Amino acid sequence: MSNDVRGCRFCGHPLEHTMLDLGLSPLCQSIVSRDDLNRGQMFYPLRAFVCDQCWLIQVHELVSGEEIYSHYAYFSSYSDSWLKHARDYCDMITERLGLSEKDQVIEIASNDGYLLKNFKAANIPALGIEPAANVAQVAIEDGIDCVVEFFGVATAKKLVAQGTQADLLLGNNVIGHVPDLNDFVAGMKILLAPNGTITIEIPHAINLIEGRQFDTIYQEHYSYFLLTAMRRVMRRHGLELFDVDEIGTHGGSLRYYARHAEESGREIAPIVDQIEQREIDAGLTNLDTYHDYARVVMETKWNLLEFLIRARREGKQVVGYGAPGKASTLLNYCGIREDLIRYTVDRNEMKQNTFMVGTSIPIHAPDMISETKPDYIVILPWNLKEEIMQQLDHVREWGAKFVIPIPELMVL
Ligand SMILES: [Zn+2]
Repeated sequence: MSNDVRGCRFCGHPLEHTMLDLGLSPLCQSIVSRDDLNRGQMFYPLRAFVCDQCWLIQVHELVSGEEIYSHYAYFSSYSDSWLKHARDYCDMITERLGLSEKDQVIEIASNDGYLLKNFKAANIPALGIEPAANVAQVAIEDGIDCVVEFFGVATAKKLVAQGTQADLLLGNNVIGHVPDLNDFVAGMKILLAPNGTITIEIPHAINLIEGRQFDTIYQEHYSYFLLTAMRRVMRRHGLELFDVDEIGTHGGSLRYYARHAEESGREIAPIVDQIEQREIDAGLTNLDTYHDYARVVMETKWNLLEFLIRARREGKQVVGYGAPGKASTLLNYCGIREDLIRYTVDRNEMKQNTFMVGTSIPIHAPDMISETKPDYIVILPWNLKEEIMQQLDHVREWGAKFVIPIPELMVL
């Protein structure tokens, strides 16, 4: 436990409780080229706090969004299961809300347009808001309107002044990456049309604790939400959570539905209270639960290191699959370098022939696995393990096994 001078990102209460200290960690989305190996890399303290007033789990903003998104390399279109998830969502929400060409859909953090293109195909007006210019450009080239900006009150007011409001306002995996949470949600309130609906998808922090998903903590990921905290954030900004879907993405996410609080009197789905109660029952509004967490995470680290060292001593070749942001936390926290994981591979061409930040593990194209026939493949994006094991079915030919590091070490 240690005190910190900064207050909670949402409620301003002093943050007095460290949930987990992961030591020093670099920015996980950085691209490290061969030339960069001769340069220094910046490491920042990576510490997660929990606020005992609103139960928002959070990491301080030590690096500005501008610095992070200037070399942002995440393109949503590289995951098949994620594309299908987006299509399914668009079908579901179009039917549920009865969306037509008269409605305006706005997506915050629209990335490369992988989701909005489904609305566009259905002739439903779609607008993206995306701060990473190189990523937004891909969407614009596909004919999807994009505002290249960080979202907040200023952007919302500008759009409203132009006569644009959202009948459906969505933000997937973005609210956790926003340094000024209150400005962001206040902006959503402004941009939402009077009878509009907000949907927000974000990993459920119950899995961060119970599922030991500590590698989802990284510099660029500022806030980790329980429903308990999300509900308070919405309320404070005049919005009301009225339904939740439990979905499997990113190791277990919630899709929150919100509307203007002024529409009170409308029904709230029982699942909202049920999930809040589940969080209370799991001890997530009790500090003792958070105090135990560091020990559990250390156990996960030791198990992985034990496995890797033993495999190496037995002369086995171990490689990785994937180079997601979460791998940076895992590898840096565990101190895993090329001696323990020889290389990793990624389907994203921008990451190929570069190196994992901090640990300098080389990233190759997936073909490298067939060329070197490793004994073990550590699946770093463990949330996509089924999809990846299917894609890599051919490695069974030479008897390779898959290693899943989280929540508990599994060799399959
Ligand atoms: Zn708080």
